[in-house]
Amino acid sequence: MANVLGVDIGGTKIRLGIIDTAGTLLYDEKIATQFPLYTYLEENVLRLLKQFPDVEAIGIGTHGFVDPKLGRIIFSTDALPGWSGTAVKEQLEAATGKRVEVENDANCAALAEAKFGAAKGLDRVVCLTLGTGLGGGILWDGKLLSGGPNGGAAELGHLTLYPGGAECACGRKGCYEQYVSGTGIQRRIREAGLDMSPLEMFKAAATDEKSAGLMKGFAYDLAIVISSLQAVFDMQAVIIGGGVSESADYWWPQLQEELKPLLLNPLNILTAEFGNDAGVLGAALLVLEGK
Ligand SMILES: [Zn+2]
Repeated sequence: MANVLGVDIGGTKIRLGIIDTAGTLLYDEKIATQFPLYTYLEENVLRLLKQFPDVEAIGIGTHGFVDPKLGRIIFSTDALPGWSGTAVKEQLEAATGKRVEVENDANCAALAEAKFGAAKGLDRVVCLTLGTGLGGGILWDGKLLSGGPNGGAAELGHLTLYPGGAECACGRKGCYEQYVSGTGIQRRIREAGLDMSPLEMFKAAATDEKSAGLMKGFAYDLAIVISSLQAVFDMQAVIIGGGVSESADYWWPQLQEELKPLLLNPLNILTAEFGNDAGVLGAALLVLEGK
């Protein structure tokens, strides 16, 4: 098969990459997200297709709730104004004459890790992306468990961890995302009366009692999240990615400690391999795998 184009759409930037069948990134570029988004996306995809005429298909990963069957955006927050309701697959296939597939960005990241990254060779995997929010991706027998009538499957960040707890952007309270994400960690730091970044807190935990308490709280919550997911999926591995995973060296031993009494069965817990490349690679995989 010829090369494919992967597109990773976020609130501030869009990444476009040409990828071959082995998952090698042959070319990539980052552009600032502009609106109206669909028109801007189509212009840039057509520009790249002219530059790389051997591209056979286009995979798109995007922030928001997606119907992967129709390739349509069901709901997107204000991060991408006007994006909700856009029939991306239908319009872009008509404009380019190529096959187009669309998925949620956290699902794309999971696909990349499972096919080429930390979970290569495994087919039942849960990925947790601890960034600003908490993204979830589930690979079930090698395929993404995604979509649903509201595009909301695998939205692991909105499972309830503490009923009546911290307010979430989804309008409810106590979601995983409010505890186990960069934003959640920052809230804990603020509430403890400290003024530091999550990385500074993790570093300080070795010597400062308050920071150590915060790190333990975070590791305990993450351990509950992982053990609950294990009870549902009995996955072969959990992959932890996103910005928070970059400081994993500091909190990993504490996480292992908290997991000991909580896991039902042994479980591989790994950090993600791709970092920022996961989104664009996973988007490309939507059309590389003949999904
Ligand atoms: Zn929520």
